[in-house]
Amino acid sequence: MATIKPIESQSIHQIQSGQVIVDLCSVVKELVENSLDAGATSIDVRFKNSGIESIEVQDNGRGIAPEDYETIALKHYTSKLSAYSDLSSLTTFGFRGEALSSLCALSNFHIITARDSDGPRGTRLDFETSGKLKGTSTAAAQRGTIVAVETIFKNLPVRKKELEKNIKREWTKVLGVLYAYAAISTGVKFGASNQASKGKKVVIFSTRSNPTTKENIANVFGAKTLLALLPLNLGLSMHPSPLPKQSDRSWSTQEDIGQRDVRITGHISRPVVGEGRQTPDRQMFFVNSRPCELPQVAKAFNEVYKMYNITQSPFIFANLVLDTNSYDVNVSPDKRTILLHDQSALLEELKKNLIELFEAHDQTVPQASM
Ligand code: ADP
Ligand code: MG
Repeated sequence: MATIKPIESQSIHQIQSGQVIVDLCSVVKELVENSLDAGATSIDVRFKNSGIESIEVQDNGRGIAPEDYETIALKHYTSKLSAYSDLSSLTTFGFRGEALSSLCALSNFHIITARDSDGPRGTRLDFETSGKLKGTSTAAAQRGTIVAVETIFKNLPVRKKELEKNIKREWTKVLGVLYAYAAISTGVKFGASNQASKGKKVVIFSTRSNPTTKENIANVFGAKTLLALLPLNLGLSMHPSPLPKQSDRSWSTQEDIGQRDVRITGHISRPVVGEGRQTPDRQMFFVNSRPCELPQVAKAFNEVYKMYNITQSPFIFANLVLDTNSYDVNVSPDKRTILLHDQSALLEELKKNLIELFEAHDQTVPQASM
């Protein structure tokens, strides 16, 4: 008898779901991104017991059409991408249609949604573990969507225990993710709250639909933070990568890509010793306004900052604005890793520009002792 057999499809779904939703941060990130993709201008994230009990994200976006109820949580069903070739021109956060189907497999999951045309009532959608629609019922709702995730990792006991054990560390990471989305999302009223088991609801922060990231930062981190920040506006000129010898040019558009310039906008702590204490120890990076982890870019920023201030680490809010052809978000299932084209040249150019910024700043700020 053959020993190699296919895994049954329900098991495959559960295995893959655990790779898309790896931790609490992934839940928050996927749901907030869906709300932003739905055109929301108001997003409220509500946790119970730091998310262990439940996470609810409510938005005032376009809602879900009844024709989509059946398929919304099925794997690889998405309204955002239909062919691989669309990937390079993507303007939404989501594109793989995996988040909701994964959450059905990993939690007690439901949606309440209402569109303008639905009148004063909304619809509650309940799902099977597979993502298949189990049933609908009417529910009180305003225009928009509430996605509720209860008892995350209910079927992955090891991961659930780990989450409970490390909840302090996880919570810090969750806050980092929320701060990043709240700060970058101009024109969106963003709020977050947590209710401890049997405790009172505590507001974590709220922004006011501000036109600038600067005002968002003031709302999230306190107005004082702004006093210690310098605006970042760096234009990195990316020279073409050296052309390979004619013989090994199997790849084609390299020259073209290499010439594209990169702009970095945002805010960074002034490199003045002592001031760092006033700023929260937060570093946020974005590629075309998409929050992401860029460890090498972070390292370059910190290295240069250290040349001017060895006692504190800086607050950084840095958005890399670059051509959509010069990076790849489709590297890991949770989309947190972004592959940047020509990264080492970019890092060199970044360091050079930062040094220039800090040098210019040094000359304009009077020294306290003088
Ligand atoms: P993706 O975001 O990659 O498309 P998801 O599983 O996150 O995949 O979502 C599936 C689909 O459900 C989306 O393409 C979108 O059409 C719809 N959707 C999800 N969340 C919302 C929301 N908050 N408001 C309106 N539609 C939503
Ligand atoms: Mg999504």
